[in-house]
Amino acid sequence: MSLPADYHMHTPLCRHATGEPVEYAEHAAAIGLDEIGFSDHSPMRRDNFDNWRMNFSQLDEYVEKVRKAQKNFPQLIIRLALEVDYLPGHEDWIRELAARHPWDYFIGSVHYVSDSWDIDNPAKLSEWKNRDAFEVWSAYFERLAMAAESKLFEIIGHADLPKKFGHRPNRDCTPLYERFLAAANKSGCAIELNTAGLRKDCREIYPSREILKLAFQKGVPITFGSDAHAPGEVGMNLAEAVQLARSVGYTECRRFAQRKYRSVKF
Ligand SMILES: [Zn+2]
Ligand SMILES: [Zn+2]
Repeated sequence: MSLPADYHMHTPLCRHATGEPVEYAEHAAAIGLDEIGFSDHSPMRRDNFDNWRMNFSQLDEYVEKVRKAQKNFPQLIIRLALEVDYLPGHEDWIRELAARHPWDYFIGSVHYVSDSWDIDNPAKLSEWKNRDAFEVWSAYFERLAMAAESKLFEIIGHADLPKKFGHRPNRDCTPLYERFLAAANKSGCAIELNTAGLRKDCREIYPSREILKLAFQKGVPITFGSDAHAPGEVGMNLAEAVQLARSVGYTECRRFAQRKYRSVKF
């Protein structure tokens, strides 16, 4: 079985990943991937917004690093992308970023449920103690639906990130998923199967089988990503993600070039 494109990987510019893009590409080629995409954490308008992304002044350097990997590995298709944080009010900034380089796709991710709380940040784990899990999941999925509706992104990242540390509401979240997936379907964006969840406390691919099943029923397309923060994580568990996608009915996924998609069998 050939592996799908790995569309989610980072670079040291985000300050919490190791290894240069050429090393990620080298690993991708070694394990037989034919296409990958770099999607490092995008800069914010304000550089000190947090400490886990590149500064705006490093954006050109990021593009150069990806171009270098493209040059060194001509046998590999290497896409240029960003994982962009969606926060309400940041839309104009995201459009400005989009205009700066010929991106192949944007992954829209929600990490922040407010301007100050990035729910997946281990340094802010204690914040979960002050919150009701269902309220956090509701706020998160509302923002995720807004991200899908914004039409700023080709792909929505790790759709059930709030499960990362194992915080799960004891209420039925189906209405939250339905609202988000209806928005994704309406705007035509894909969701990613992100294998990083397998390496976290939740020990599950993002999103869950339950969400993926609903996504298939609603005709929401998919992509795959390892969310690699080190060269050795490239392509990690993608075979498992393929199995999960197949088990709910998917036979096709999307690939992107210059923000246009084509569907391919996997
Ligand atoms: Zn990261
Ligand atoms: Zn992310």
